[in-house]
Amino acid sequence: MNILVAGGAGYIGSHTCVALLEAGHSVIVADNLCNSKAEAIDKIKQITGKTDKEVLFYEIDVTDKQKVYEVFLNHSIDGVIHFAGLKAVGESVEKPLMYYYNNLMSTMVLSEACLKFNIAKFVFSSSATVYGENEVPFVETMNLLPTTNPYGETKAMSERILTDIVKANSNFAVTLLRYFNPVGAHKSGLIGESPNGIPNNLMPYVTQVAKGKLKKLKIFGNDYATVDGTGVRDYIHVCDLAEGHVSALNKLSEGINIYNLGTGQGTSVLQLVKAFEEANNIEVSYEIVERRAGDIAECYANASKAEQELGWTAKRGIVEMCKDAWKFEKNY
Ligand code: NAD
Ligand code: UDP
Repeated sequence: MNILVAGGAGYIGSHTCVALLEAGHSVIVADNLCNSKAEAIDKIKQITGKTDKEVLFYEIDVTDKQKVYEVFLNHSIDGVIHFAGLKAVGESVEKPLMYYYNNLMSTMVLSEACLKFNIAKFVFSSSATVYGENEVPFVETMNLLPTTNPYGETKAMSERILTDIVKANSNFAVTLLRYFNPVGAHKSGLIGESPNGIPNNLMPYVTQVAKGKLKKLKIFGNDYATVDGTGVRDYIHVCDLAEGHVSALNKLSEGINIYNLGTGQGTSVLQLVKAFEEANNIEVSYEIVERRAGDIAECYANASKAEQELGWTAKRGIVEMCKDAWKFEKNY
C-alpha cells in the first residue's frame, strides 16, 4: 500500500515509516518539521535501504488544506496515518488555542481529504490520556472520563470527530490507536526521541542525566498508592508501537476500531530508573520532589483486544527499551 504518513518525520512516525517500509509498503511523509528534522527522512532510507521511489517527503503543514489536496491529487494513496500533532502537555495549558487549532484542524483536513479522494483507511494517534482517572488497567470499553489538559482534550475531541464522520460515511474506516508510554529507539541508534529543550517525559530526562547533560532526575512524588510510591506507567518500545500501526492498517475494517497499544505491564519511576542503571551499567542521580500537577498514580493497558483482533503484542521488554534509548542518546 501507499501510505500518507502525516507527522512521519517525528519520533513515532519515523519508526512507523521504517516498519511500513519493512513490511513492503511505500510512504509519503507530510511534515512541517515543527518538532522534527528532515534528516529523519534520510535515516529512514538508510535503515531500510529504500530510495526516493518508496519514501517521498513533503514539507507541508497538514492544516493547510490546499497543500494537502495537492499531495492527494498527485499520488494514489491507499491509507493515511495521522501523527501530526503537538504533544507537550504543559505547553498546551499555556497555549490552548495553538493546540486546538493544530491538532483538530489537522484531523479535519486529513479526514476531509480522505472522503473527497475516496480513501477508506485512516489511522489516528490517540493516547491513554483519553481514559482520564479510570481504574487500571484501561480497557477500550470503558467510559472515558474528563481529560485534564488541552492536549488530552484534542485527542478526545479528535476521537469524537472521527467517530461522527464514520457514522455519516459508511465506507470510511478509522482506527483509533491509544498509545501508552512510548520509549526507546530503533536498534540502529539512528532514529529516536530528541525533544527540544528540557524533556518533559521520563525516559529522555533519564538518558540526558546519564549523559551528564542534565544534573539530576526529579522524581515527581513518592507518596502515590503504588508499589514504591512513585507513578506507574505502561512503557512500550517505540518499535513495538510502530509495528502495531502496520497490524492495524492490515486489519483495518469497516467502522470505528479502537485499540490500546501498550504492554499491559506497569512499571514505577523507581523501577524504570533501576532497570536503566542495570541495563546500561551507568548511574542516574535523582531526588524526590513534589508531585507534578495533573499526574495520575497509575496508567497501564489491558492490551488483549489488539492481541485478539490485530494479532499484535508488544515483544520488547524494559531492558531493551532502556538499552536502545541509551544507544540513541549516546549517538545523538
Ligand atoms: P513528534 O512531535 O515527535 O511527532 C509529531 C510530528 O508531527 C513532528 O514531526 C511534527 O513536526 C509534525 N507536525 C505537528 N503538527 C504538524 C502539522 N500541522 N503539519 C505537519 N506536521 C506537523 O511526536 P510523537 O511522539 O512522534 O507523537 C506522534 C503522535 O502521537 C502525536 O499526535 C502525539 O500526540 C501522539 N502521542 C504521542 C505520545 C508520546 O508519548 N510520544 C503518546 C500518545 C500519543
Ligand atoms: N516523571 C518524573 N520525572 C520526570 C518526568 C516524569 O518523575 O522528569 C514521572 C511522572 O510523574 C510519571 C512518569 O514519570 O509518573 C511518566 O511521565 P511522562 O511525562 O514520561 O509520561 P506521562 O505518563 O505523564 O504522559
